[in-house]
Amino acid sequence: MKFDPASKIQDLQYFGEFGGVNPSISDSSTYTFLSAKTMFDTFEGNTEGCYLYSRHSSPSNLYLGEALAAMEATETANVTASGMGAITAVILQLCGAGDHIVSGRTVYGGTYAFMKNFLPKLKVTTSFIDITKPEVVEAAITPHTKMIYCEAVSNPLLEVADLEALSAIARKHNIPLVVDNTFTPMNITPKNHGADIVIHSLTKFINGSSDTVGGVVCGTKDFCLSLKDVNDGAAMLLGSTMDSLRAASVLKNMRTLHIRMKKHSENALYLAQKFEADGLKVVYPGLPSHPGHETMKRMINADYGFGGMMTLDAGSLEKANALMEMMQERNLGYLAVSLGFYKTLFSAPGSSTSSEIPEEEQKAMGLSDGLIRFSIGLDEDIERTYQSMKTCMKELGILSEAVTA
Ligand SMILES: *Cc1c(COP(=O)(O)O)cnc(C)c1O
Repeated sequence: MKFDPASKIQDLQYFGEFGGVNPSISDSSTYTFLSAKTMFDTFEGNTEGCYLYSRHSSPSNLYLGEALAAMEATETANVTASGMGAITAVILQLCGAGDHIVSGRTVYGGTYAFMKNFLPKLKVTTSFIDITKPEVVEAAITPHTKMIYCEAVSNPLLEVADLEALSAIARKHNIPLVVDNTFTPMNITPKNHGADIVIHSLTKFINGSSDTVGGVVCGTKDFCLSLKDVNDGAAMLLGSTMDSLRAASVLKNMRTLHIRMKKHSENALYLAQKFEADGLKVVYPGLPSHPGHETMKRMINADYGFGGMMTLDAGSLEKANALMEMMQERNLGYLAVSLGFYKTLFSAPGSSTSSEIPEEEQKAMGLSDGLIRFSIGLDEDIERTYQSMKTCMKELGILSEAVTA
């Protein structure tokens, strides 16, 4: 059956307090109770459907959460102040001293640093494994393992996780499969392939305007309520709450997400095909040469393509840096971390977003010095962009002069 995340969002209907076409923004940190008894019950944990205090929830945050839950086909969702706020809350809710995580080794640098450097202080350990090999994942599970953690399409190497195979392993061991879907909103709906908890950094494609950080945890009602439990909820007690004003603005940006994702995917596929034909080392899951191509093809919501992220190997860090500077100078994009912007963004992950990962390990996972990560923008004339990028590569000797196609 075809699943269309955009029509799920379209089915939602909200009105503002005075019939406005956008929901009213809640401008309060605290909420009144009609009776003292209800307030007591709320602190006893019966908080469902109640507004109490905006660190717990607010109407604006609930509207955004509902839209994200509709997109991800989960029962509900909790929005957070950042993607890391979502990731750390989920992990700390599920793990305590003595527990263990099995995680993909090519995950976002901040997630990697949290698992590798921070969690051991709480006596939580992590095995970083090659997530594309289900037998390796299963072998890493111990009686103390509390979750399998992965990115649907990983940062920055664009490895594709076979969510169906991973969820079968998770089920067998009675642990949840937690999936960070930041690179592929709308492209992949992890819940439909067996994921139990789906996380996003809203900072990237979902908000899409590089003007805020934000995050979300999509999951069951039980789990999302546990996260904001006043007595022991990690989201509630660690306090990574999104502000209501920001939630309202992210919701408005989300209304164009389906159109943007199609264009990001279309442009990325165009450039990946062209550069591959020119003989460059391009990694894009939409290319048949990508090891995860067939797996991703099985998982995608076909209308949305293979996403807007692509990598290209410039040969060395010097060449990568020179190329990025030249492309920025010629207004082909910005030399910046992050992703999902209308402009193309590029960075060399080995020396930036993945610098938390030690050099040895970067090598082992195939993260080379000359690797450039591209978040492909919404350029209308992508052929012109391609020609201009190719000119830069020829001038720098990354592409030989002989390539004219
Ligand atoms: C950016 C990013 C995060 C962290 O999100 P923030 O909003 O910056 O906290 C987590 N996972 C992935 C895959 C990311 O790209």
